[in-house]
Amino acid sequence: MAKYNGPQCKLCRREGTKLFLKGDRCYSTKCAVVRRQSAGAPGQHGQTRKKLSNFGLQLREKQKAKRIYGVLEKQFRIIYNSADKKVGVTGENLISFLEMRLDNVVFKLGFANSRKEARQLVSHGHFCVNGRKVDIPSYRVKVNDIVEVREKSRSTEKFKALFENNKTLPLWLAIDGESYRGKVVAVPCKEDLNVQFNETLIVEFYSK
Ligand code: SF4
Repeated sequence: MAKYNGPQCKLCRREGTKLFLKGDRCYSTKCAVVRRQSAGAPGQHGQTRKKLSNFGLQLREKQKAKRIYGVLEKQFRIIYNSADKKVGVTGENLISFLEMRLDNVVFKLGFANSRKEARQLVSHGHFCVNGRKVDIPSYRVKVNDIVEVREKSRSTEKFKALFENNKTLPLWLAIDGESYRGKVVAVPCKEDLNVQFNETLIVEFYSK
């Protein structure tokens, strides 16, 4: 399973915006985007970039989405192709497919501080979907699926600490904090989410 192991904050600086890849740190003054506002993108020529072309804008939106969800190019293309084949608006299908990845659902349910941490917890086998262990972060959940922390993982300090923080849930998810269990109650739609990228530009990028 390929994944990006480089510095996370560099990705935010490259996109010129907070992508919230590091959990609590992203909300603090230690955030690299806040601290290095005048530094521009990383690299020697970071501050001298010219105005972006249409292609450049589309590329940046695609990169932003990939980086937010921690998905590499090949996998993102596969997700896009599935979204394109599905009936409906491709951009909205793409958003719902990305949101319904198991690692994202674990993050949104508050079982992890970031998507990266959620991905690690899922691959270490701490979660069940409908009572069966699933350790594939890209597993796509469905409406009415139950996602829960496995029985033997519940007593670990990691999960105890997480459940002390009350988290606001998106409308398409519900949780029973005491039972370490969450439920997918609807398909996520753009209106319910604070989407940080323009999905229309991504569709244009792949439609060439
Ligand atoms: Fe991005 Fe978070 Fe790093 Fe800030 S702290 S640059 S939001 S990953």
